[in-house]
Amino acid sequence: MRAETPRKPVQGPADLAINGAPPAFAEPLHVGRPNVADRELYLAKIEAMLDSGWLTNNGPMVHEFEARLAESLDVKHVVVVCNATIALEIAIRALGLTGEVIVPSYTFIATAHAVYWQGLTPVFADIDPATHCLDPASVERMITPRTTGIIGVHLWGRTAPTEALQALADRHGLKLMYDAAHAFGVTRGGRRVGGFGSCEVFSFHATKFLNSLEGGAVATNDDELAQALRLMRNFGFVGYDDVIHPGTNGKMVEACAAMGLVNLAGIDGLIETNARNHAAYGRGLEGIPGVSLLTFDPAERNNFQYVVAEIGPEAGATRDALVEALNAENVLARKYFWPGCHRMKPYRDLFPWADVHLPATNQVAARVLVLPTGSSVSEDDIAAICGVIRVRCGQR
Ligand SMILES: *Cc1c(COP(=O)(O)O)cnc(C)c1O
Repeated sequence: MRAETPRKPVQGPADLAINGAPPAFAEPLHVGRPNVADRELYLAKIEAMLDSGWLTNNGPMVHEFEARLAESLDVKHVVVVCNATIALEIAIRALGLTGEVIVPSYTFIATAHAVYWQGLTPVFADIDPATHCLDPASVERMITPRTTGIIGVHLWGRTAPTEALQALADRHGLKLMYDAAHAFGVTRGGRRVGGFGSCEVFSFHATKFLNSLEGGAVATNDDELAQALRLMRNFGFVGYDDVIHPGTNGKMVEACAAMGLVNLAGIDGLIETNARNHAAYGRGLEGIPGVSLLTFDPAERNNFQYVVAEIGPEAGATRDALVEALNAENVLARKYFWPGCHRMKPYRDLFPWADVHLPATNQVAARVLVLPTGSSVSEDDIAAICGVIRVRCGQR
């Protein structure tokens, strides 16, 4: 996670060295390289923090960050915490979930871990292969008398089917919340993500779209839920001496809030950069058989945080061969959420039968290739990256 460093000029696709020659990029191009909007402003905020002596415990920058986030997400309450995993755990607690909670398997492992770490059972539902988000029909099949909640995930910043999931939750008396770690600044039907379900959880980890070093938040329009979240974030304290509820330490420190504020102010610029990069990938990958780029609904607001290609069986190379070829060129493209939470050891051991219910998850996990984007990736870089894929797929 270094600051931007100059890279060797990019060679044309014809020169790209797949066998033995030096890599096309002297410096690695990462997926999820941190975006920092204004270094000077960040350092000024850190100086101010050190001068004030208020480093943590619900400080002024945390307050300001929460207020700005609530405005930006168009919700009544935003409770910021130290990371999204703790945010998920606190939200699960505050909602009073028990027994079984339905989650997608095709997500970052933290979605499932947060449920399990609270002593509950994550039950994996399948996704719609077209959207990569929960398939409501599969969710419905997984409901048992022990089910108390559903956690939808807005994967890649493409929104989960909120209407169908809400109808399902209402019909079965279940709580519904979202892991919106990928979906900051995104809309569905023109409505901003943040206000769907009982609450929505965001991640501000350094590799995410909005970076606060480490950080997370729960957004909600429910006053009581917000109060419970605040209590649980701070050991259950009200005032100095009075603890009225069990709780944990989920507090965000001022240095993180400062980074969050700086990057929130620069978010429109980052969306523009990401949108431009996404379009460049679209042009670069066009016409390669079996290679398709996941697109975003142009009628919605998108953050284009992830550039996701799917490598089908008709492609001239396998997904894994492409990852290898790109890595050899110092393009650290990655498989993502492979092989699915249900095939990771803890959950494979607990629920060996889950696989049977998850054909779309298995199919998508085998096809996805995530490519680098963000402010450190230029259009020339993208042309070269697409050149590697084109050549490796036998399309000179
Ligand atoms: C990153 C991520 C998380 C965890 O966020 P942290 O802030 O790193 O704890 C949870 N869910 C999804 C889908 C994520 O991508």
